[in-house]
Amino acid sequence: MVIRIYVDRDFCTGCENCLDSCPYDAIEMRDERAFITEYCQLCRNCLSVCPEGAIKEEEAVVKETPDLGKYKGIWVFAEQRNGKVAEVALELLGVGRRLAETKKTELVAVLFGSTEEEAEELIRWGADRVLHCPDPIFEHFNDDPYVELLTQLIRDRKPEIVLAGATPIGRSFLPRVAARVHTGLTADCTSLEIEPETGNLLQIRPAFGGNIMATIVCPHHRPQMATVRPRVMKKGRYDDSRKGEIETIRAERLYSRTKVLRTVKETSQASVNLQEVDVIVSGGRGVGGPEGFKLLEALAVLLGGAVGASRAAVDEGWIPYSHQVGQTGKTVSPKLYIACGISGAVQHLVGMQSSDIVVAINKNPDAPIFNVADYGIVGDLHEILPLLIKRIKEIKTG
Ligand SMILES: Cc1cc2nc3c(=O)[nH]c(=O)nc-3n(C[C@H](O)[C@H](O)[C@H](O)COP(=O)(O)OP(=O)(O)OC[C@H]3O[C@@H](n4cnc5c(N)ncnc54)[C@H](O)[C@@H]3O)c2cc1C
Repeated sequence: MVIRIYVDRDFCTGCENCLDSCPYDAIEMRDERAFITEYCQLCRNCLSVCPEGAIKEEEAVVKETPDLGKYKGIWVFAEQRNGKVAEVALELLGVGRRLAETKKTELVAVLFGSTEEEAEELIRWGADRVLHCPDPIFEHFNDDPYVELLTQLIRDRKPEIVLAGATPIGRSFLPRVAARVHTGLTADCTSLEIEPETGNLLQIRPAFGGNIMATIVCPHHRPQMATVRPRVMKKGRYDDSRKGEIETIRAERLYSRTKVLRTVKETSQASVNLQEVDVIVSGGRGVGGPEGFKLLEALAVLLGGAVGASRAAVDEGWIPYSHQVGQTGKTVSPKLYIACGISGAVQHLVGMQSSDIVVAINKNPDAPIFNVADYGIVGDLHEILPLLIKRIKEIKTG
């Protein structure tokens, strides 16, 4: 049952009593009457505060997508850059394969641009079929043609589930596709399962600042759409001998209101791709300032890695946002993650806890980071890091 909370304008006197009752700031005044906005989380706090009883709840009428049963198959949008399929697409094929086997349905990869060789790779990574549109309009990412073609394909072929990477490309165009086909979209899922009783997709992701894991379902509309950040899922099995079908899609009536003149790759140290390195030396408020990060950088360089940071360090302005790890930063899973002066708040942990080995350096023995650490060093990072650097240099020079 879906509940809607609303203000009955005939009873509202505009007294504004309800405004402070909402912990989500979801009530505002419109034309001298209270109005409940889309930020309402259905907590019902406001129901009892209105002296006139003007705030009411009712069962909302959900207009279902007709014939949900017609929607079949699981699609993975295989994002490419410069013709090369992104790793996140292979990770999605891993989870997509598992879901397809549970539902006993077909796994389809959708590839815009790129080459037939890359389409064949998608089959080896688990797709049963690839819908490949090699049109040159897809050479560079551009919202308009991406939105147009994916929407057309979904309308014509009716997939039950559509997955894409929560990358700048996926985040940019997928919400527009979801809006056009009148369905929901759950961003940044950390886990995807099939509900045995209903066959619905359970879309699991952190909510309320990472303090709870929410399971989101889309029971009344199709397709069920979700994005997953890179490196959250593991790739499936690569099978050189796997066979599948590649269907070439002709792009018709595609247009673009913008023209990409050229793409410039950022080369500064700040742009280092944390999601691709094997070692990350990450610093938090305990690092004490921008100078402290030089020590972390020295260790990262020695280990062939990169420097990460907590939000506290980024907010202090000690290091650019592109280094931030966590819920509102990057999700990483390196072989080695060294957390220096980071307390281990849940919002940081969700971004790094799938690292293979975690080493924590913190002067507080009760810091929560030690709960996820494989090795913990209790002490001052300014004393420990120089010792570590010295020892690694000694080992390296034999
Ligand atoms: C919606 C939301 C999203 C968020 N997103 C993120 C996110 O993406 N990433 C993120 O990191 N945070 C995020 N946060 C913030 C998060 O809640 C924490 O505030 C943040 O992670 C704390 O950073 P910190 O561990 O560096 O700082 P603190 O919590 O202040 O911890 C500093 C630690 O350093 C230790 N220390 C101090 N001096 C030394 C020393 N000399 N040697 C060794 N140890 C020392 C202390 O013992 C302490 O444990 C988010 C918060 C919210 C509400």
